[in-house]
Amino acid sequence: MNDVLDRKALWTISYGLYIVSSVSGEKSNGQIVNSVIQVSADPPSIAVSINKNNLTHAYIEESKVLAVSVLEEETPMSLIGLFGFKSGRDVDKMSKVTCRNGETGCPAVIDNAISSFDGKVVGAVDCGTHTIFVAEVMGAQVLKDGTPLTYAYYQNVMKGKASKNAPTYKGDPGSQDKPEEKKVEGVMKKYVCGVCGYIYDPQEGDSEGNIPAGTPFEDLPDSWTCPVCGASKDEFSPEE
Ligand code: FE
Repeated sequence: MNDVLDRKALWTISYGLYIVSSVSGEKSNGQIVNSVIQVSADPPSIAVSINKNNLTHAYIEESKVLAVSVLEEETPMSLIGLFGFKSGRDVDKMSKVTCRNGETGCPAVIDNAISSFDGKVVGAVDCGTHTIFVAEVMGAQVLKDGTPLTYAYYQNVMKGKASKNAPTYKGDPGSQDKPEEKKVEGVMKKYVCGVCGYIYDPQEGDSEGNIPAGTPFEDLPDSWTCPVCGASKDEFSPEE
């Protein structure tokens, strides 16, 4: 424990959950971002923090445009897994969702979004692992009524984890905050996804994958994949 810099203090900061997208020529890509804030009223401007290793970072640097989709609370883990735990270098994410082209020509994801906006980059700050891009908003629209998804809801209710490229990443998935252990009878073991940290709990099953509660990990079909990141069964190991 470092008394001077207790990183747990930083974990108390609250965030939302967004998809930030950008373009490179005919190609587009997007990723989950928890850090989007409005930083100026006139002109309306936002700041987003993006990991330098991410494809979206390269696209924003190149095209100087970006779009933001504000996700709703009902957003399924499968969408967060696609945009948060998979790289655009491996998967054409934008082809799997519905998009809307903004004023800058940059497409925003509108699936499970309550609003979207796009803008041109007017500044960038090097912050080590991440770059903060400041963008002037050129177009914005409310897409539907809904409650914006917060990072706390994602972590506490949806049991989601931070990707290793998130500014708020806390270390290995196994070291992240674990939900309170429930006293359960029996010996069915929980299994942890080695990619995203999702925990398969046999007592709960996996409703998105149509796996009923009470299904041991060993009985999951070989075709079953992690509901968050899409990793296959062999990426899982028993919880310590
Ligand atoms: Fe996973």
